[in-house]
Amino acid sequence: MNINMTLECDTCGEPTNCRIGMSNREEQRLRFCCPDCSAPIDLVFGVKKGGGITGAHRIDGRQPFDAETNFVDLHLDFPVSFGPYVMGNTPYMAAAQRIGFEEMQLHSARLNTLNAEHELFPKFKTLLKLYAGGKVTPFKMNAAKTFGIITKSDLPQDINATLYSVVSNVMRPFAMPHANESVVKLFVNMMRGVWVKDAVSTEAFMREIIDSGFLKKLQLDCLEIYHRILAAELPLRPALFLDFDDMYHSEPIPMRVSVDEFETYKDLYKDICEIVARQLNLVAGLNNLQKRNDHNAFKPEIGLSRAGNNRTPKNLAAFADVNFGDKLKFIDNSWYEFDNRAADNQMRNAIAHYKTDYDEISQKITYFPRKEGMMEGKSEETSFLDFIRRILIAYREMHSLHQLIKCLFFHEYIMPKPT
Ligand SMILES: [Zn+2]
Repeated sequence: MNINMTLECDTCGEPTNCRIGMSNREEQRLRFCCPDCSAPIDLVFGVKKGGGITGAHRIDGRQPFDAETNFVDLHLDFPVSFGPYVMGNTPYMAAAQRIGFEEMQLHSARLNTLNAEHELFPKFKTLLKLYAGGKVTPFKMNAAKTFGIITKSDLPQDINATLYSVVSNVMRPFAMPHANESVVKLFVNMMRGVWVKDAVSTEAFMREIIDSGFLKKLQLDCLEIYHRILAAELPLRPALFLDFDDMYHSEPIPMRVSVDEFETYKDLYKDICEIVARQLNLVAGLNNLQKRNDHNAFKPEIGLSRAGNNRTPKNLAAFADVNFGDKLKFIDNSWYEFDNRAADNQMRNAIAHYKTDYDEISQKITYFPRKEGMMEGKSEETSFLDFIRRILIAYREMHSLHQLIKCLFFHEYIMPKPT
């Protein structure tokens, strides 16, 4: 269903024609910024209290829409065009034309899961808190009561089994189908491989990451991200759509996200990248173990520059201090295929240290990857949609490597110690 309405901006008095494609989500919160003065205009449907339109009010506009008046298409579930009004080319039709009706159904199935389960999200957040706080009894009780997962015993491997079942179940709409099964297989094989080859060296690696608290801290930091991804569900919907949109990957045209809050999600991207950077320590340690039977031994001279400086990390602790953007260079012939798109170091740096400018009307983000003295340096540009897509990709990489953390704990709990 689509609703056509004309809204007059409360800030500047200019009218905008809106075509709103309704999602199946019960509560719908849409936002765009006035094409004339960039003041935010919010539309909220399906709530008992506080619904309606703020920042503008409805007026009688000309029907059908004319070409002279500002126009916006809005839909929660897909990216929509910034183009002019075309009668009949509704957001749904335009989206279906991009990916085909079959893929549309796959996309809808994921969104329907989110629509059906969003009431569980606060309970999920509480459950992760109980786990993080070591509150075993209420954790087990809530996992059973709310998520239907029974914990076999109080042994740490059984508690973790429950935790990871709930996580993968709740987070499944954000995953690519079957993505988890294949990485878990890879991680289990890797752990078995290094252990069979050299149990003593493997144990030395385990002691370093566990006795220092590194692995536990990393696990708890990963768990903190999930509820933030769920809270970003609305802007992530159009990013999920792009999983099926090959046209976008070959030619990323600007498209609108109908929820517009760049500032709200800046830190989420930065925090996920920061976790992924630490997860790479595990990938590097295992790579060193596999190739040189010593988690601290990087390939000699892998960091040798043309000028003759050797920046090869002396050990895993030194590797931990390497810049995120440089880390992959020191992992020779990596056993783990890292999605490079997950780590846009320039964007992360710009968000973390420098400046980003956001144009609410065009949803264009301008960022400055390098600071050059007092000057801001050359700028790069991306769209809010692309930025949200990067959050999704970085999140998936984090989630994938979180499965490695799970496997490492499992190894610690069940494997006999070498004598
Ligand atoms: Zn305005």
